[in-house]
Amino acid sequence: MARTRRPLIAGNWKMNGLKADALALASGIADGVRQTGWTDREVLICPPATLVMAVAEAVKGSGVLVGGQNCHAKPSGAHTGDIAAEMLRDCGAACVIVGHSERRTDCGETDADVRAKAEAACRAGLLPIVCIGETLAEQEAGMTFSVLANQLKGSVPAGATAAKLVVAYEPVWAIGTGKTPTIAEVAAAHAHIRKVLDGLMPDAAGVRLLYGGSVKASNAAELLAAGDVDGALVGGASLKVDEFLAIAKAV
Ligand code: PGA
Repeated sequence: MARTRRPLIAGNWKMNGLKADALALASGIADGVRQTGWTDREVLICPPATLVMAVAEAVKGSGVLVGGQNCHAKPSGAHTGDIAAEMLRDCGAACVIVGHSERRTDCGETDADVRAKAEAACRAGLLPIVCIGETLAEQEAGMTFSVLANQLKGSVPAGATAAKLVVAYEPVWAIGTGKTPTIAEVAAAHAHIRKVLDGLMPDAAGVRLLYGGSVKASNAAELLAAGDVDGALVGGASLKVDEFLAIAKAV
């Protein structure tokens, strides 16, 4: 069956990459994407903020998109060490990840913070990738669906439309652990997310939903074929050219 939403394969490099290695990685991915001439899917890489500009330059003309991993909610001002969405955009970014569970945990980001960041991203012309997901304790307590619903209600930007929103479902217990939910669980979570979005925005059917958490070349085809999965947010496996390209090919 033809897909109605254009799949998005996003690489989240996290706090990894010094210039030489990062540029080699970005160029390798760009070369691979250029060779395929893909128009039926999008490939995005999100390097650390220090490398956004250089990576954007390195992948220019390849079709590979570049994104940030976080942004501030304000466009400028007295916020030492922070980076505005406008600054990412100015460096060549097209997207930004907001509300990743590592930031929710490490930096205490709340749903309200995530919403403010997603709204800032939209104002700056960036596509926000809003991350949600339950912890192991929440999953074990049978709270997955209520956690996802609350996170969506709290963090989806006001006035969101499908063209200006991507949601990534990342069970916290699956990130960097090698564990993944079953395909049926992934499909059920994504169907639930779409149903909740339907109550929050007019065109929820068009929102791309990514699965993230221990995606690798060997499980990508199965995960990407699950119902309502429109792509992947890939951490560890996005740091190797061949592995990441294999995931993008698995769409
Ligand atoms: P992982 O990370 O693929 O290494 O599990 C995913 C993420 O944190 O986005």
